[in-house]
Amino acid sequence: MTPRKTALSPGSPAPKPRSNGKPDNALAAELTRLLGPQKVLSNLSERLNYRYDAIQFGATPLAVVLPESTADVVTAVRAARAAGVPIVGRGAASGLSGGAAPALPGLVISFTRMTRLAIFPERREARAQAGVVTLAVTEKARPFGLIYPPDPASFRTSTIGGNLGENAGGPLCFKYGVSGDYVKALEFVDADGEVHELTRDAYDLAGLLIGSEGTLGLITEATLRLTPPPQYTRTLMASFPEVGACAEAVSAAIAAGAVPGKLEFMDRACTNAVEDYLHLGLPREAEAVLLVDTDGDDLETVEEERALVEAACLAAGGTVRRAASDAESAALWQARRSVSPALGRIRPQRMNEDIVVPRSALPDVVREIRALGDASGFHVVQFGHIGDGNLHPNILFDPRRESAEAVHDLAHRIALVAIRYGGVLSGEHGIGTMKRPFMREAVDPVTLAALWDVKRALDPAGALNPGKVLPDETGSDHARP
Ligand SMILES: Cc1cc2nc3c(=O)[nH]c(=O)nc-3n(C[C@H](O)[C@H](O)[C@H](O)COP(=O)(O)OP(=O)(O)OC[C@H]3O[C@@H](n4cnc5c(N)ncnc54)[C@H](O)[C@@H]3O)c2cc1C
Repeated sequence: MTPRKTALSPGSPAPKPRSNGKPDNALAAELTRLLGPQKVLSNLSERLNYRYDAIQFGATPLAVVLPESTADVVTAVRAARAAGVPIVGRGAASGLSGGAAPALPGLVISFTRMTRLAIFPERREARAQAGVVTLAVTEKARPFGLIYPPDPASFRTSTIGGNLGENAGGPLCFKYGVSGDYVKALEFVDADGEVHELTRDAYDLAGLLIGSEGTLGLITEATLRLTPPPQYTRTLMASFPEVGACAEAVSAAIAAGAVPGKLEFMDRACTNAVEDYLHLGLPREAEAVLLVDTDGDDLETVEEERALVEAACLAAGGTVRRAASDAESAALWQARRSVSPALGRIRPQRMNEDIVVPRSALPDVVREIRALGDASGFHVVQFGHIGDGNLHPNILFDPRRESAEAVHDLAHRIALVAIRYGGVLSGEHGIGTMKRPFMREAVDPVTLAALWDVKRALDPAGALNPGKVLPDETGSDHARP
């Protein structure tokens, strides 16, 4: 992932690198002694590269460990605990909520060398170390007629550990589920450096670890469920004169019995950004564009489902275009996959929001967010996994001209819209540091206290990824009004 300096959080000032190549602090020296210099980055110039994720810069770590095994992780965790410093797990740092950017100087454990991956076709399972790149699982399973369905758009770079840390989703999640749905077992190292292998039975502690953003334990390996890919896929694109009609069509199609494999929405601003970039002939005048795949192993059912979606779109006043070939289908999906680079041409940076609201509320939510964007003067673009009501309003900005305060203020207002409509702060990108200030408004005090109890039970000293997810118990970190 390309590091992007953001004005949103400058983090600690960058000190000047030392040039003698020796560890410049006691923790780095101790880890180098225990693990050897090949597995420890101790020079400041190296450590500076581990301050950020895809959205935020944080504090410079005192040391970075590149473990190759669970035993290395145990050694690193114990050394950090002995030194009394915090520990942050890090995958590809493609996260969009500040999760892998350290809030305080301490130890970063970067899992990118833990890439052992084995496929067990007879059990339809994979065993993956935390640093395995998401797409690599499907690439290795495909010769056995199997795939790993979780498909975050970042799947060429993101890691299994990071995906489970965030419980990542993707276009396929409406029908096939999110990352956590594919975990059969996982191994993690707790805050004391003890190793646990968890299966998914009573108390489902593995489920608790999934989506905990590295605040409850460090995932070192996982057993993942694989499935055969659907034999047939049919694609259609529908365009609508208003967002309400699009949401209505989606609800009607689902109510009629369609369970599309993919169900993606782009608003007018988003469609135009992609069309300016790719010139695919997308409908520029449409207020909402819907991209749908129906899929399965029985062609008749797949086509029946497409017909249900098509009928619902037409009844809601939409215009439908069926993809007549695999090439046309690929071109339509290229539109959705190209949203990120297309937006990058409009402004150098963006804050990628990630709210979930009831699908019935989507028309009002999209309208309100658009009005907020217009009033703020920011270019705001909306797209998302409409089947789940998971919307990604993106605030595009130029940090040279627009203030971080104003971007945060708009992000806060967007979060408040989601909460007001009975939604939640995050569908798949996590809370991290970005949404932490809004947690008190989103989660009631009794539930927050229960979450703190869980955190204290698993990490009594607060060593694991402090400053993330849960707001400060003292109440000193309220969101700005
Ligand atoms: C262009 C782009 C598109 C994206 N599209 C999607 C999308 O479609 N769907 C989606 O869900 N997300 C998406 N994301 C966000 C991001 O890619 C996901 O959150 C992804 O799961 C992060 O994986 P990572 O390996 O980069 O983790 P990191 O960013 O390194 O870490 C993410 C979090 O997990 C924790 N963590 C990392 N490794 C471990 C471990 N081994 N044990 C415990 N905790 C750990 C970190 O501390 C951090 O809190 C996108 C990001 C970008 C930049």
